[in-house]
Amino acid sequence: MVDRVPYLDLVAQMKPIRADINKAIAENLDRCSFCLGPDVEQFEKDFATYCKTSHAVGFNSGTSALHVALRLLDIQPGDEVVTTPFTFVATSWAISYVHAKPVYVDIDPKTFNLDPRKLEAAITPKTKAIMPVHLYGHPFDVDGILAVARKKGIPLIEDACQAHGATYKGKTVGGFGVAAGFSFYPGKNLGAYGEGGALTLNDAKLAARAKSLREHGSTVRYYHDEIGYNYRMEGVQGAVLKVKLPYLAGWTADRQRVARRYNSLLKGLPLQLPSEAEGCESAWHLYVVRHPKRDDLKKHLEAAGVGCALHYPLPLHLQKCYASLGYKQGDFPESERAASECLSLPIYPELTEKQQDRVAHVVRQFFTS
Ligand SMILES: *Cc1c(COP(=O)(O)O)cnc(C)c1O
Repeated sequence: MVDRVPYLDLVAQMKPIRADINKAIAENLDRCSFCLGPDVEQFEKDFATYCKTSHAVGFNSGTSALHVALRLLDIQPGDEVVTTPFTFVATSWAISYVHAKPVYVDIDPKTFNLDPRKLEAAITPKTKAIMPVHLYGHPFDVDGILAVARKKGIPLIEDACQAHGATYKGKTVGGFGVAAGFSFYPGKNLGAYGEGGALTLNDAKLAARAKSLREHGSTVRYYHDEIGYNYRMEGVQGAVLKVKLPYLAGWTADRQRVARRYNSLLKGLPLQLPSEAEGCESAWHLYVVRHPKRDDLKKHLEAAGVGCALHYPLPLHLQKCYASLGYKQGDFPESERAASECLSLPIYPELTEKQQDRVAHVVRQFFTS
């Protein structure tokens, strides 16, 4: 009997670092610094260093971080923000939370990221920001998008929630625009033991405003400069993340090793495999293959005890919650096709070669039986 291969295994990652985590949490409890506090501050410093930005600001989620990024641009109701329809819904939540309108641009089918060739046509006098996503951990076409952004004078916000440590032309993502949002949801490349997020920035004033916005719009307690939020990072999450961050580079290298090994194990099958575009190093948050009979392949894997997942089965322009935007089937054909063909295979630093061989064997079986 062959073992199941889980889609994700958070226990395997925690076990070897459990003692250090316990110690850091115990120290946090000793201090009772539950909301923000020294552990969060330490993590913010370390994470800014990791992303090579001057500042990082901790949040209670990636969604909150992206919301505040748009607040920093003083976006008004009725303004437009250009983004991708092929992403996790939270990218668009940030836009909706500032009462702006998400304007979608289709993806490049090779990288699944916003296609810069289609960007300029979507820009109007109301466009106040461009917010592409480094989807699956693969950097978007930074030069292509920045060229349009600069020409039009529109600020860039990165959704880097899946891309901790990914690089574009040797530069770590997170510092290409006004701000970048990261998520530390447990399943992300750097996961908290609960919810968490961060903004990285290269401007002291904006970083200070982001800190104020996450804490009720105040810098002096009970004096509120603008309408803010309770978006503080918990002290315990700061303690956990501060312990985990030094492992991230090694974990990313392990993900890359797993991805390359999949590419060689699955070579020659009638299956589109992921690759890195010129100048890009993916953080390999996900390993996504595509095939027209994706649903059958998924059933086959599940029947054999191999975990897999869909990222994402329905593009945002076709979601019920965004019906009022007035988009219809056929508006973004590449996103729609990707949504029907994509399948995410298990990828995490702790995935063993034996497990990976099993996944590849079961995938191969689909095409030979
Ligand atoms: C996870 C994720 C978010 C939201 O992060 P949370 O921490 O879950 O709020 C936003 N955008 C993308 C692309 C994500 O993957």
